[in-house]
Formats: sequence, structure tokens, C-alpha cells
Amino acid sequence: MINHGVSHCRFDYGEKFWIIKWKQFTCTCGSTKCRYSKETIQQTLAEYRLKHELEDQVD
Ligand SMILES: [Zn+2]
Repeated sequence: MINHGVSHCRFDYGEKFWIIKWKQFTCTCGSTKCRYSKETIQQTLAEYRLKHELEDQVD
């Protein structure tokens, strides 16, 4: 079995995946740098919304 550094976030579903899915489940990779865990997802969401509000205004 090939092990690509276990289930780290860098094997990434992508930010958008978690923005959509976080209510059902969050990332359990256990990394302290993870931005999609139960503890950090709210911060990631806030940043994502902010970013997209700005982008929308440009559009
Ligand atoms: Zn993770």
C-alpha cells in the first residue's frame, strides 16, 4: 500500500469543498495547520466570505 504522507490536508479537496461540506463533517487530519477542522473551520469560512465579498464587488 502506498502511503503519501497519510491523510494530510495537502491531499486537498480544496477550500470550496469544505465551505460546502463543513456542516456535515470537518477535516480530521489532526494537523495544527489544518484550516478545515472543527476548531478552525469558522475562521476559514469567515476569511472565505470576506474574500468572496471583495471579489464579487470587483465583478
Ligand atoms: Zn485537515
